[in-house]
Amino acid sequence: MDRPPPPRSAIVVHGGAWAIPDDEWRAHRDGVERAIRAGWAVLQENGSALDAVEAAIVVLEDDPTYDAGIGSVLTRDGHVEMDAAIVDGRGLDAGAVACVRDLKNPILAARQVLQSDHVLLSGEGASAFARSRGIVACEPASLIVPRERARLARLLAEELGREVDPREAFGQPAAERPNGTVGAVAIDRGGNIAAGGSTGGTPGKLSGRIGDTPIPGAGLYADNRLGGAACTGWGEGILRIGLARNAVSHLRDSAGQDAAWLAVREMDDRIQGKGGVIVLSRDGSLGFAFNTPRMAVGYMDGEIADPWIIGNDNR
Ligand code: ASP
Repeated sequence: MDRPPPPRSAIVVHGGAWAIPDDEWRAHRDGVERAIRAGWAVLQENGSALDAVEAAIVVLEDDPTYDAGIGSVLTRDGHVEMDAAIVDGRGLDAGAVACVRDLKNPILAARQVLQSDHVLLSGEGASAFARSRGIVACEPASLIVPRERARLARLLAEELGREVDPREAFGQPAAERPNGTVGAVAIDRGGNIAAGGSTGGTPGKLSGRIGDTPIPGAGLYADNRLGGAACTGWGEGILRIGLARNAVSHLRDSAGQDAAWLAVREMDDRIQGKGGVIVLSRDGSLGFAFNTPRMAVGYMDGEIADPWIIGNDNR
């Protein structure tokens, strides 16, 4: 019989895969490190993988550097609309919210959905549900930062003068457009694996658009029998290819790193999709892969003294 390996707790976090400019790299790197430390503190106290993922993502949602929580990119009509999800590899449970406008930490609402009879709630209904679970609503405008107002203005001005390829309008040149979605995957001492993600989506998206981040199998996936994954990049492509589930399926025959590469390569070959994925196998083996210029990734387990922050560069 196939015996599970002894559980070794570990956490991997990402802060988006895109052409992170040199002058923004430090902030992306430092936020990932703070998130890793928050998640790792939970695991060290014997906390669950779910709690570790949630703690890491809250740190990134609270950091205006990233396209999640405060600092999220804006819709074409100037609003923040966020998606978030969390999945539990024990029984393939999942909770997600989409198109929410008034939650400072959408990941907390996703966690509440996971503990309900539903998997995915959207818009006003998701916000009302969050309030019913004691999550206080925030003023939608408080999530908007000047950087994103300026970005939207530039984007709309650029489009005025030219024909826009519809794929471009939905963010496919992820390499050029900011995609600072955040995500995390953790395994705890009990061998439970969880994955989570949170995003404001793609800049200039249509109101009502939902990307891959809140969709189990696409933006994230976890199965204690194999491992977990969380994705970032061109959401429409990740949705179509089922990137997270594909990466986790590769863990049947491959270690974390190979599984991540195989999944990203398949997305590139089949639909020319751009993005990245982080992977943790059930024995704690790390994987990450991206076909954008940069990706912010950090990793921590019990065998290293400090978080390993990977200054990835494809350039
Ligand atoms: N995948 C996200 C979305 O399409 C964006 C990102 O990863 O930055 O909503």
